[in-house]
Amino acid sequence: MKAEIIAVGTEILTGQIVNTNAQFLSEKLASLGIDVYFQTAVGDNEERLLSILEIARRRSDLVILTGGLGPTEDDLTKQTLSKFLGRDLLFDQKAMEKLDDFFASRPDRVRTPNNERQAQMLEGAIALQNRTGLAVGGLIEIDQVTYVLLPGPPSELKPMVNQELVPLLATGEQLYSRVLRFFGIGESQLVTILADLIDKQTDPTIAPYAKTGEVTLRLSTKAISQELANLKLDTVEQEILAHGNLAELFYGCGDDNSLAKTTFDLLKETGKTITAAESLTAGLFQASLADFSGASAVFKGGFVTYSMEEKSKMLDIPLADLKEQGVVSTFTAEKMAEQARKLTESDLAVSLTGVAGPDSLEGQPAGTVFIGLATAEKVESVRVNIAGRSRSDVREIAVLHAFNLVRKTLLKA
Ligand code: ATP
Repeated sequence: MKAEIIAVGTEILTGQIVNTNAQFLSEKLASLGIDVYFQTAVGDNEERLLSILEIARRRSDLVILTGGLGPTEDDLTKQTLSKFLGRDLLFDQKAMEKLDDFFASRPDRVRTPNNERQAQMLEGAIALQNRTGLAVGGLIEIDQVTYVLLPGPPSELKPMVNQELVPLLATGEQLYSRVLRFFGIGESQLVTILADLIDKQTDPTIAPYAKTGEVTLRLSTKAISQELANLKLDTVEQEILAHGNLAELFYGCGDDNSLAKTTFDLLKETGKTITAAESLTAGLFQASLADFSGASAVFKGGFVTYSMEEKSKMLDIPLADLKEQGVVSTFTAEKMAEQARKLTESDLAVSLTGVAGPDSLEGQPAGTVFIGLATAEKVESVRVNIAGRSRSDVREIAVLHAFNLVRKTLLKA
């Protein structure tokens, strides 16, 4: 089934609102196994809406219109579709009752014929009730094309889609996806390693996506149940992880997952506490931890030591040693971690010191970062090179390296 989404509203074209309805609908339709081929936005203008409907009728099986079901004069979606399909508008009984209840409970509001327009639907359409608003939606099939009318406000559209539309559209098959997440490899390198698999991919499909510092692979397949989809997804996942050193760079699954989340979960599972002493990242690592509810169980506090003097003062490291060794060094990274752990009595401590850029520091180029890690057993550090990136990327990627170091340490313990 080929679907398209037409968002009606001049505010979308002028950039006053973002077309989040299209995103929501595309995701929903994909999960139902329905392919969306086009998304269009058109202003509140009858002529232009008629022209896009004419195009949509020829190229799509399912045409979903959002917005313009309200009471005002510029709300003309339903009226235009009625004209386009040659179907009259009739009052929907349930929607009228809802309108009656609304005005009975709000004597301060004046009921006008415009309000009543919201309870009208095309003759022959299945009405889609609006549980959070007054404008009724609808679904009608004409000449093998299904047209759907949905209200603009997301607070009305989403419940209508979930409760009224999805049951009408759901077929046996759905799209199931699994997102594999990798850290420590670029997108092109990952695609090169998997070239043979990607070239012959049909079902499940494999789609790479790069984000700052990490790469994901989305595996998608259509199946009649999660169990059957899992069988296919497990096989491809195993094939992927058997390539090169990908098993080592793979850290988890899921759209909402992240290195920080995976590491946080591991800290919680193992009952370990962590602290950090941060220079170039100035608290980013600690702020990322505090994003998760329950953070206080693993993180009690830490340090932001930007200048050499504060590294010395707050972490009790002799200034002379810092001057002699330099702040961008193995020595400083390890000392920062060791002292942070000692001072907060945490199980682990991480430290970040380096050159965010764009200028070099102590003769070290921008992107040079030393990350220290202290546990009760040992203190170690790694040097990473995040060259050629913006200042904010360097800081963000440095934090990812720090989380990865903690994650690996916890897995080894
Ligand atoms: P109303 O009864 O509120 O007039 P409506 O169905 O006529 O609803 P519109 O008038 O087109 O819808 O839009 C109302 C509001 O809904 C917009 O101001 C905007 O906040 C939101 N909205 C409309 N279309 C979209 C969209 N495509 N994506 C996200 N929000 C939208």
